[in-house]
Amino acid sequence: MARDDDLTKHRTTRTTSELVEQGLIAPDQRSDIERVAQQFAIAITPSVLETIATRDSEGGVARQYVPSAAENTITPDELDDPIGDLAYTPVKGIIHRYPDRVLLNAIQTCAVYCRFCFRREQVGPSAKSLNAEELHAALDYIGKHDAVWEVILSGGDPLMMPPKKLAYIATTLAEMKHVKVLRLHTRVPAAAPERITTELIEALRILTPTYVAIHVNHPDELTADVTAACARLADAGIPLLGQTVLLKNINDRADVLERLFRRLIEIRIRPYYLHVGDKARGTSHFRTGVAAGQKIMQQLRGNVSGLCQPTLVLDIPGGHGKVPVGPCYTEQAADGFLVTDVNGNRHTYRED
Ligand SMILES: *Cc1c(COP(=O)(O)O)cnc(C)c1O
Ligand code: SF4
Repeated sequence: MARDDDLTKHRTTRTTSELVEQGLIAPDQRSDIERVAQQFAIAITPSVLETIATRDSEGGVARQYVPSAAENTITPDELDDPIGDLAYTPVKGIIHRYPDRVLLNAIQTCAVYCRFCFRREQVGPSAKSLNAEELHAALDYIGKHDAVWEVILSGGDPLMMPPKKLAYIATTLAEMKHVKVLRLHTRVPAAAPERITTELIEALRILTPTYVAIHVNHPDELTADVTAACARLADAGIPLLGQTVLLKNINDRADVLERLFRRLIEIRIRPYYLHVGDKARGTSHFRTGVAAGQKIMQQLRGNVSGLCQPTLVLDIPGGHGKVPVGPCYTEQAADGFLVTDVNGNRHTYRED
Protein backbone atom coordinates (compact mmCIF):
# COMPACT_ATOMS: atom_id res chain seq x y z
CA MET A 1 0.00 0.00 0.00
CA ALA A 2 1.24 3.46 -0.86
CA ARG A 3 0.37 4.68 2.60
CA ASP A 4 2.62 2.18 4.40
CA ASP A 5 5.57 3.02 2.14
CA ASP A 6 4.94 6.60 2.95
CA LEU A 7 5.06 6.00 6.67
CA THR A 8 8.24 3.95 6.65
CA LYS A 9 9.98 6.77 4.80
CA HIS A 10 9.36 9.02 7.76
CA ARG A 11 10.90 8.54 11.13
CA THR A 12 9.70 9.66 14.51
CA THR A 13 11.05 13.14 15.29
CA ARG A 14 13.27 13.00 18.36
CA THR A 15 15.95 15.69 18.24
CA THR A 16 16.02 19.49 18.29
CA SER A 17 17.74 19.49 14.85
CA GLU A 18 14.80 17.54 13.42
CA LEU A 19 12.34 19.94 15.08
CA VAL A 20 14.13 22.87 13.43
CA GLU A 21 14.33 21.10 10.04
CA GLN A 22 10.60 20.40 10.14
CA GLY A 23 9.79 23.98 11.03
CA LEU A 24 8.27 23.01 14.38
CA ILE A 25 10.59 25.29 16.35
CA ALA A 26 12.47 28.41 15.23
CA PRO A 27 16.29 28.17 14.95
CA ASP A 28 16.73 30.77 17.70
CA GLN A 29 14.74 28.61 20.15
CA ARG A 30 17.18 25.79 19.75
CA SER A 31 19.32 26.29 22.85
CA ASP A 32 16.26 26.62 25.13
CA ILE A 33 14.73 23.47 23.66
CA GLU A 34 18.05 21.69 24.00
CA ARG A 35 17.80 22.29 27.76
CA VAL A 36 14.28 20.83 27.75
CA ALA A 37 15.51 17.81 25.81
CA GLN A 38 18.19 17.11 28.43
CA GLN A 39 15.44 16.57 31.00
CA PHE A 40 12.42 15.24 29.16
CA ALA A 41 12.05 12.87 26.23
CA ILE A 42 10.79 14.08 22.85
CA ALA A 43 8.99 11.98 20.22
CA ILE A 44 6.50 12.99 17.54
CA THR A 45 5.32 10.17 15.27
CA PRO A 46 4.92 10.57 11.49
CA SER A 47 1.17 10.26 11.97
CA VAL A 48 1.05 13.17 14.43
CA LEU A 49 3.43 15.23 12.26
CA GLU A 50 1.02 14.80 9.37
CA THR A 51 -1.90 15.90 11.56
CA ILE A 52 0.03 18.98 12.67
CA ALA A 53 0.90 19.81 9.08
CA THR A 54 -2.53 19.26 7.58
CA ARG A 55 -5.34 19.96 10.03
CA ASP A 56 -4.05 21.60 13.18
CA SER A 57 -5.36 25.11 12.48
CA GLU A 58 -5.74 25.94 16.21
CA GLY A 59 -2.34 24.45 17.15
CA GLY A 60 -4.08 22.23 19.72
CA VAL A 61 -2.20 19.14 18.54
CA ALA A 62 1.24 20.72 18.09
CA ARG A 63 1.26 22.23 21.59
CA GLN A 64 0.75 18.79 23.13
CA TYR A 65 3.92 17.36 21.59
CA VAL A 66 6.30 20.09 20.42
CA PRO A 67 8.57 21.06 23.33
CA SER A 68 8.60 24.69 24.41
CA ALA A 69 10.98 26.84 26.47
CA ALA A 70 8.23 27.17 29.10
CA GLU A 71 9.13 23.64 30.24
CA ASN A 72 12.33 25.06 31.70
CA THR A 73 10.22 26.94 34.27
CA ILE A 74 9.83 24.75 37.33
CA THR A 75 7.44 26.13 39.97
CA PRO A 76 8.11 25.41 43.68
CA ASP A 77 5.08 23.14 44.04
CA GLU A 78 5.87 20.90 41.08
CA LEU A 79 6.85 17.45 42.17
CA ASP A 80 8.93 14.70 40.57
CA ASP A 81 6.31 12.18 41.62
CA PRO A 82 3.20 14.38 41.41
CA ILE A 83 0.68 11.72 42.34
CA GLY A 84 2.79 9.88 44.89
CA ASP A 85 3.14 6.56 43.04
CA LEU A 86 6.37 5.60 44.80
CA ALA A 87 4.77 5.05 48.19
CA TYR A 88 2.41 2.46 46.68
CA THR A 89 4.96 0.35 44.83
CA PRO A 90 5.33 -3.00 46.67
CA VAL A 91 7.16 -4.62 43.74
CA LYS A 92 8.85 -2.97 40.76
CA GLY A 93 6.23 -2.15 38.09
CA ILE A 94 3.20 -2.47 40.40
CA ILE A 95 1.29 0.48 41.88
CA HIS A 96 -1.29 -0.77 44.36
CA ARG A 97 -3.10 2.25 45.72
CA TYR A 98 -6.69 0.98 45.73
CA PRO A 99 -7.64 -2.44 47.09
CA ASP A 100 -9.51 -3.84 44.05
CA ARG A 101 -7.17 -2.76 41.24
CA VAL A 102 -3.47 -2.48 40.49
CA LEU A 103 -1.49 -0.63 37.88
CA LEU A 104 1.08 -2.74 36.06
CA ASN A 105 3.72 -0.59 34.35
CA ALA A 106 5.69 -3.11 32.33
CA ILE A 107 7.04 -0.64 29.80
CA GLN A 108 8.32 2.93 30.13
CA THR A 109 8.44 3.96 26.47
CA CYS A 110 5.68 5.72 24.53
CA ALA A 111 4.91 6.39 20.86
CA VAL A 112 4.94 10.13 21.58
CA TYR A 113 6.05 12.09 24.63
CA CYS A 114 3.32 14.46 25.79
CA ARG A 115 4.73 17.71 27.11
CA PHE A 116 2.33 17.72 30.10
CA CYS A 117 2.88 14.06 31.07
CA PHE A 118 2.55 13.39 34.82
CA ARG A 119 5.01 10.49 34.56
CA ARG A 120 7.55 12.48 32.56
CA GLU A 121 10.28 11.69 35.08
CA GLN A 122 9.85 7.95 34.51
CA VAL A 123 9.16 7.64 30.77
CA GLY A 124 11.52 7.90 27.81
CA PRO A 125 13.27 5.84 25.16
CA SER A 126 16.14 4.98 27.49
CA ALA A 127 13.96 4.31 30.55
CA LYS A 128 14.13 0.73 31.74
CA SER A 129 11.12 -1.49 31.13
CA LEU A 130 10.61 -4.57 33.31
CA ASN A 131 12.90 -7.47 32.40
CA ALA A 132 11.54 -11.03 32.28
CA GLU A 133 12.32 -11.70 35.93
CA GLU A 134 10.78 -8.42 37.14
CA LEU A 135 7.65 -8.99 35.05
CA HIS A 136 7.37 -12.45 36.55
CA ALA A 137 7.63 -11.00 40.07
CA ALA A 138 4.99 -8.34 39.28
CA LEU A 139 2.57 -10.94 37.91
CA ASP A 140 3.30 -13.15 40.90
CA TYR A 141 2.30 -10.27 43.21
CA ILE A 142 -1.05 -9.99 41.41
CA GLY A 143 -1.53 -13.75 41.58
CA LYS A 144 -1.05 -13.69 45.36
CA HIS A 145 -3.50 -10.83 46.00
CA ASP A 146 -7.03 -12.16 45.75
CA ALA A 147 -8.57 -8.70 46.21
CA VAL A 148 -7.23 -7.58 42.83
CA TRP A 149 -10.30 -7.64 40.59
CA GLU A 150 -8.86 -5.45 37.84
CA VAL A 151 -5.39 -5.03 36.35
CA ILE A 152 -4.62 -1.76 34.58
CA LEU A 153 -1.71 -1.75 32.13
CA SER A 154 -0.17 1.68 31.99
CA GLY A 155 3.35 2.90 31.65
CA GLY A 156 4.74 4.23 29.45
CA ASP A 157 2.32 3.02 26.84
CA PRO A 158 1.30 -0.64 27.07
CA LEU A 159 0.44 -0.82 23.36
CA MET A 160 4.14 -0.20 22.60
CA MET A 161 4.82 -3.71 23.90
CA PRO A 162 5.23 -6.39 21.24
CA PRO A 163 1.86 -8.19 20.82
CA LYS A 164 3.51 -11.43 22.01
CA LYS A 165 4.44 -9.86 25.33
CA LEU A 166 0.93 -8.42 25.75
CA ALA A 167 -0.48 -11.87 24.94
CA TYR A 168 1.79 -13.41 27.59
CA ILE A 169 0.60 -10.93 30.23
CA ALA A 170 -3.08 -11.36 29.28
CA THR A 171 -2.79 -15.16 29.28
CA THR A 172 -1.09 -15.20 32.69
CA LEU A 173 -3.74 -12.88 34.16
CA ALA A 174 -6.59 -14.85 32.56
CA GLU A 175 -5.42 -17.89 34.54
CA MET A 176 -5.90 -16.03 37.85
CA LYS A 177 -9.46 -16.64 39.03
CA HIS A 178 -9.75 -13.37 40.95
CA VAL A 179 -8.69 -11.13 38.02
CA LYS A 180 -11.91 -10.40 36.14
CA VAL A 181 -11.06 -7.28 34.15
CA LEU A 182 -8.06 -6.00 32.22
CA ARG A 183 -7.76 -2.33 31.29
CA LEU A 184 -5.15 -0.50 29.23
CA HIS A 185 -4.46 3.21 29.14
CA THR A 186 -2.89 4.19 25.82
CA ARG A 187 -2.04 6.97 23.43
CA VAL A 188 -1.18 4.60 20.56
CA PRO A 189 -4.54 4.59 18.68
CA ALA A 190 -4.36 8.41 18.49
CA ALA A 191 -0.60 8.79 17.94
CA ALA A 192 0.46 5.69 15.97
CA PRO A 193 -2.76 4.15 14.60
CA GLU A 194 -0.84 1.83 12.26
CA ARG A 195 0.25 -0.15 15.34
CA ILE A 196 -3.34 -1.38 15.89
CA THR A 197 -2.78 -4.59 13.95
CA THR A 198 -4.73 -7.84 13.89
CA GLU A 199 -2.06 -9.51 16.03
CA LEU A 200 -2.31 -6.77 18.65
CA ILE A 201 -6.12 -6.96 18.70
CA GLU A 202 -5.94 -10.75 19.17
CA ALA A 203 -3.80 -10.18 22.27
CA LEU A 204 -6.48 -7.82 23.60
CA ARG A 205 -9.12 -10.53 23.16
CA ILE A 206 -7.44 -13.10 25.43
CA LEU A 207 -8.93 -11.80 28.67
CA THR A 208 -12.59 -10.79 28.38
CA PRO A 209 -13.38 -8.06 29.14
CA THR A 210 -10.35 -6.00 28.21
CA TYR A 211 -11.21 -2.29 28.25
CA VAL A 212 -9.04 0.15 26.31
CA ALA A 213 -8.93 3.75 27.57
CA ILE A 214 -7.70 5.96 24.74
CA HIS A 215 -5.98 9.22 25.64
CA VAL A 216 -7.15 12.05 23.32
CA ASN A 217 -7.22 15.78 24.10
CA HIS A 218 -8.27 17.61 20.95
CA PRO A 219 -10.85 16.81 18.25
CA ASP A 220 -8.26 17.47 15.52
CA GLU A 221 -6.37 14.37 16.71
CA LEU A 222 -9.23 12.22 15.43
CA THR A 223 -8.11 11.81 11.82
CA ALA A 224 -9.43 9.20 9.40
CA ASP A 225 -6.54 6.84 10.29
CA VAL A 226 -7.13 7.29 14.03
CA THR A 227 -10.86 6.75 13.61
CA ALA A 228 -10.21 3.60 11.58
CA ALA A 229 -7.86 2.22 14.26
CA CYS A 230 -10.52 2.81 16.93
CA ALA A 231 -13.12 1.12 14.72
CA ARG A 232 -10.88 -1.97 14.41
CA LEU A 233 -10.78 -2.20 18.21
CA ALA A 234 -14.53 -1.59 18.64
CA ASP A 235 -15.39 -4.06 15.88
CA ALA A 236 -13.36 -6.69 17.74
CA GLY A 237 -15.71 -6.24 20.70
CA ILE A 238 -13.28 -4.23 22.83
CA PRO A 239 -15.07 -1.58 24.90
CA LEU A 240 -13.42 1.83 24.47
CA LEU A 241 -13.15 4.68 26.95
CA GLY A 242 -11.82 8.19 26.42
CA GLN A 243 -9.39 9.90 28.74
CA THR A 244 -8.65 13.62 28.40
CA VAL A 245 -6.39 16.05 30.24
CA LEU A 246 -7.66 19.61 30.59
CA LEU A 247 -4.93 21.77 29.01
CA LYS A 248 -4.63 25.54 28.83
CA ASN A 249 -4.76 26.93 25.26
CA ILE A 250 -5.45 23.46 23.90
CA ASN A 251 -8.85 22.30 25.08
CA ASP A 252 -9.91 24.59 27.95
CA ARG A 253 -13.04 25.76 26.12
CA ALA A 254 -16.51 24.23 26.23
CA ASP A 255 -16.86 24.32 22.41
CA VAL A 256 -13.59 22.43 21.86
CA LEU A 257 -14.42 19.78 24.44
CA GLU A 258 -17.97 19.48 23.12
CA ARG A 259 -16.59 18.72 19.65
CA LEU A 260 -14.12 16.23 21.12
CA PHE A 261 -16.64 14.36 23.30
CA ARG A 262 -19.31 14.24 20.57
CA ARG A 263 -16.81 12.89 18.07
CA LEU A 264 -15.60 10.29 20.60
CA ILE A 265 -19.16 9.03 21.13
CA GLU A 266 -19.70 8.94 17.36
CA ILE A 267 -16.72 6.61 17.02
CA ARG A 268 -17.82 4.43 19.97
CA ILE A 269 -15.48 5.82 22.65
CA ARG A 270 -17.21 6.74 25.92
CA PRO A 271 -15.54 9.76 27.62
CA TYR A 272 -14.48 8.53 31.05
CA TYR A 273 -12.28 11.06 32.84
CA LEU A 274 -11.38 14.70 32.27
CA HIS A 275 -8.22 15.17 34.34
CA VAL A 276 -7.19 18.39 36.03
CA GLY A 277 -3.48 18.72 35.10
CA ASP A 278 -1.07 17.13 37.57
CA LYS A 279 1.81 19.14 39.01
CA ALA A 280 4.58 17.52 37.00
CA ARG A 281 7.80 19.50 36.64
CA GLY A 282 7.78 22.17 33.92
CA THR A 283 4.06 21.96 33.13
CA SER A 284 2.64 25.10 34.78
CA HIS A 285 1.90 26.66 31.36
CA PHE A 286 -0.65 23.87 30.76
CA ARG A 287 -2.59 24.12 34.01
CA THR A 288 -6.02 25.77 34.05
CA GLY A 289 -7.07 25.34 37.68
CA VAL A 290 -10.04 23.39 39.01
CA ALA A 291 -12.60 26.22 38.61
CA ALA A 292 -12.04 26.38 34.83
CA GLY A 293 -12.82 22.68 34.58
CA GLN A 294 -15.96 23.01 36.70
CA LYS A 295 -17.20 25.88 34.55
CA ILE A 296 -16.72 23.92 31.33
CA MET A 297 -18.48 20.86 32.74
CA GLN A 298 -21.35 23.10 33.81
CA GLN A 299 -21.62 24.46 30.26
CA LEU A 300 -21.70 20.95 28.82
CA ARG A 301 -24.30 19.57 31.23
CA GLY A 302 -27.77 20.02 29.78
CA ASN A 303 -26.61 21.21 26.35
CA VAL A 304 -24.81 18.02 25.44
CA SER A 305 -25.88 14.37 25.63
CA GLY A 306 -25.11 12.60 28.88
CA LEU A 307 -23.04 10.11 26.88
CA CYS A 308 -20.57 12.92 26.20
CA GLN A 309 -19.99 13.82 29.88
CA PRO A 310 -16.78 12.55 31.50
CA THR A 311 -16.13 12.93 35.23
CA LEU A 312 -13.82 15.83 36.11
CA VAL A 313 -11.14 14.33 38.39
CA LEU A 314 -8.12 15.48 40.33
CA ASP A 315 -5.30 13.23 41.47
CA ILE A 316 -4.57 14.77 44.87
CA PRO A 317 -0.83 15.54 45.16
CA GLY A 318 0.98 13.45 47.74
CA GLY A 319 -0.56 10.10 46.85
CA HIS A 320 -4.07 10.64 48.19
CA GLY A 321 -5.70 9.34 45.01
CA LYS A 322 -8.23 10.50 42.42
CA VAL A 323 -11.53 12.12 43.27
CA PRO A 324 -14.28 13.87 41.29
CA VAL A 325 -14.02 17.63 41.76
CA GLY A 326 -17.44 18.75 40.69
CA PRO A 327 -19.17 20.80 39.67
CA CYS A 328 -21.48 20.04 42.56
CA TYR A 329 -25.22 20.48 42.08
CA THR A 330 -26.36 19.84 45.62
CA GLU A 331 -26.17 21.60 48.94
CA GLN A 332 -27.49 20.22 52.22
CA ALA A 333 -30.51 22.11 53.63
CA ALA A 334 -32.43 21.70 56.89
CA ASP A 335 -35.04 19.29 55.50
CA GLY A 336 -33.24 17.90 52.45
CA PHE A 337 -31.19 19.44 49.67
CA LEU A 338 -30.96 22.52 47.54
CA VAL A 339 -30.39 21.28 44.00
CA THR A 340 -29.12 23.52 41.18
CA ASP A 341 -30.53 22.90 37.67
CA VAL A 342 -28.60 23.31 34.41
CA ASN A 343 -29.70 26.95 34.16
CA GLY A 344 -28.29 27.78 37.59
CA ASN A 345 -31.68 27.94 39.35
CA ARG A 346 -31.94 26.34 42.77
CA HIS A 347 -34.75 24.05 43.90
CA THR A 348 -35.63 22.48 47.20
CA TYR A 349 -35.67 18.70 47.33
CA ARG A 350 -37.34 17.63 50.57
CA GLU A 351 -36.55 14.34 52.21
CA ASP A 352 -39.03 12.88 54.65
C1 LIG B 1 -5.86 6.29 38.29
C2 LIG B 1 -5.39 5.09 38.98
C3 LIG B 1 -6.16 3.92 38.98
C4 LIG B 1 -7.48 3.81 38.25
O1 LIG B 1 -8.47 4.55 38.88
P1 LIG B 1 -9.96 4.47 38.31
O2 LIG B 1 -10.67 5.50 39.12
O3 LIG B 1 -10.43 3.07 38.56
O4 LIG B 1 -9.90 4.78 36.85
C5 LIG B 1 -5.69 2.82 39.66
N1 LIG B 1 -4.52 2.85 40.32
C6 LIG B 1 -3.76 3.96 40.35
C7 LIG B 1 -2.49 3.93 41.10
C8 LIG B 1 -4.17 5.11 39.69
O5 LIG B 1 -3.40 6.22 39.71
S1 SF4 C 1 1.62 8.64 26.28
FE1 SF4 C 1 1.00 8.79 28.44
S2 SF4 C 1 2.79 8.10 29.62
FE2 SF4 C 1 3.48 8.57 27.53
S3 SF4 C 1 4.16 10.68 27.55
FE3 SF4 C 1 2.01 10.76 26.94
S4 SF4 C 1 0.86 11.02 28.86
FE4 SF4 C 1 2.95 10.34 29.41
